[in-house]
Amino acid sequence: MSSFSERSAGLRKVYRALRKACGKQSLEPADDVAHELLRFILMEEADQTSVDKAMKRFSQDFVDLNEVRVSFPREIAEVMPEVSHAEQKASRVTRVFNGIFLSHNTMTWDFLRTMGVREVRQFFEKLDGGGEVLAAAAVLLLSGGHAVPADADVTRTLSRLGLTVEGEDTASLQSFLERAVARNEGYETWALLHRLAESVCLPDKPQCAKCPVRTMCPTGAEILAVKKSAGRTVKSERAKPAAGKKPQRAKKTTAKKKSSAAASKRAAPSKRKK
Ligand code: SF4
Repeated sequence: MSSFSERSAGLRKVYRALRKACGKQSLEPADDVAHELLRFILMEEADQTSVDKAMKRFSQDFVDLNEVRVSFPREIAEVMPEVSHAEQKASRVTRVFNGIFLSHNTMTWDFLRTMGVREVRQFFEKLDGGGEVLAAAAVLLLSGGHAVPADADVTRTLSRLGLTVEGEDTASLQSFLERAVARNEGYETWALLHRLAESVCLPDKPQCAKCPVRTMCPTGAEILAVKKSAGRTVKSERAKPAAGKKPQRAKKTTAKKKSSAAASKRAAPSKRKK
């Protein structure tokens, strides 16, 4: 699948099926800009429950996000042991927080709300620890602009669904998503793909049998076909007699047993006295 219209139609089908399976996903207004970005960074290849736990511990174990900014990545990673790639994410958090702090000398990031969509995007693209995905997230979550961040989860699920193009980089994938997805469905598309990624389309072991979009997924079809044929092989192997053993004769059925018992009774001499 390579043409824009084919990919868009495929994405639309996946969106509809996921919405039916998972329900509507709504973007809640962001109370705190820094917390929103922190959550976004932790979310990548992690499940919602472990991220919720980590966010709770951040507010319990640190005085505020300024303390997070000046902490060592190892200390930050310790409060989120369940979150995948904890040290790597902790290091990114300190870089992003320090980058923003150094540019505006504050940890109150409301200045971002006064920027236009293009300005927000450029700010995060250039930021240390930022990049095009975080820039798209900032546009989507903070400025109300149109963006679909192609993070690791979105890229993985779309690639398995056959909706990416070989050799496509993140910027091109994001650009495709922004053209193919309607403005009012940007957040929902991203959130639904995340639900798929964290529930069944796991990085190492996709649970294709339980996947709501398995009928439209080439990778899922391949995985399920391999499992089916492996299951058939195991069954036929079990049915074969072990090497060197004679195949056992089938046991007589109950009906056969009964009739042979009746026959031997008839054949036996009667013990009754005449
Ligand atoms: S069928 Fe499998 S590989 Fe395809 S999207 Fe679902 S879980 Fe991922």
